[in-house]
Amino acid sequence: MVTIPQRVVITEVVCRDGFQDEARMIATSEKLALIHRLIQAGVRSIEATAFVHPKVVPQMADADTLLAQAPREHGVRYSALLPNLKGAERALAAGLDEIHLVVSASDSHNRANLNRTTAQSLAQLATVAAFVQRAAPHVTIVGTVATAFGCPFTGRVPLERLGWVIGHMQAMGIEQVVLADTTGMANPLQVKQTLYALRERFPQLEWGLHLHNTRGLGLANAYAGLETGVTRFDAALGGLGGCPFAPGATGNIATEDLVHMLHEMGVETGIDLDALIAAARGLPALIGHDIDSFVVRSGKACDLHTFSETAIARV
Ligand code: ZN
Repeated sequence: MVTIPQRVVITEVVCRDGFQDEARMIATSEKLALIHRLIQAGVRSIEATAFVHPKVVPQMADADTLLAQAPREHGVRYSALLPNLKGAERALAAGLDEIHLVVSASDSHNRANLNRTTAQSLAQLATVAAFVQRAAPHVTIVGTVATAFGCPFTGRVPLERLGWVIGHMQAMGIEQVVLADTTGMANPLQVKQTLYALRERFPQLEWGLHLHNTRGLGLANAYAGLETGVTRFDAALGGLGGCPFAPGATGNIATEDLVHMLHEMGVETGIDLDALIAAARGLPALIGHDIDSFVVRSGKACDLHTFSETAIARV
């Protein structure tokens, strides 16, 4: 008997992970209009931005104004990615519900991304976590481990190394950990084995997955995670979020494809898939290029076609 969770929470990351590497600058008003549509579609968890230096990620330069104007309706929870104390101060001033502290499991990726080793980042994040716990105890702190399943420079990340990073996060008082397959290197068996092993070692922690579909394994990996009991998934509308280390690669798993799979399996998301697909259809006009989404292209499995005797048989 296969049992999977009956309900999951999806965090929509299109405004952060999705837009951060887009060539066309997305205006704050355009982001707000999209966020409004997402909320109308039933999305209740939104990673809206990143509190990073505007020179490093120009698309996130409007983080403070975006959050000041973001609609606070239907109990929507806003989160943001941040790497340091300065980011945390800005995030708390912006009234975030949740902050995502990120570190790469591999030193090489962490150095490429944040210009310091994993150990140096962990020390810095401990300071940030302590600050947030003291200044805003109601704010949830989530630890995001980038390159959790593989590093584009050094390959497979040993479980021991992953455990070492997560042990540090737990010591900071973090109770929720998101494993990120930053460059789409994970496979379903690995996701399953990793989560089972980590759950055994850290039984108090709650787990989430942030998956990229770089090599077409995103949804298979999501299902593998679901089978281990994961109830929290990041996804980006339209599958946006290309990876700078895999040129031409697709981005995050598309939210509409993930929701479609979950609904087909009877898993509740609280999201109206048709409204989500309609929102995804608006993305090409915003970003100036096509999106990578199966259900936008092919419709839902439950959208039946009119039967015709003359249809050509295909297998
Ligand atoms: Zn990502």
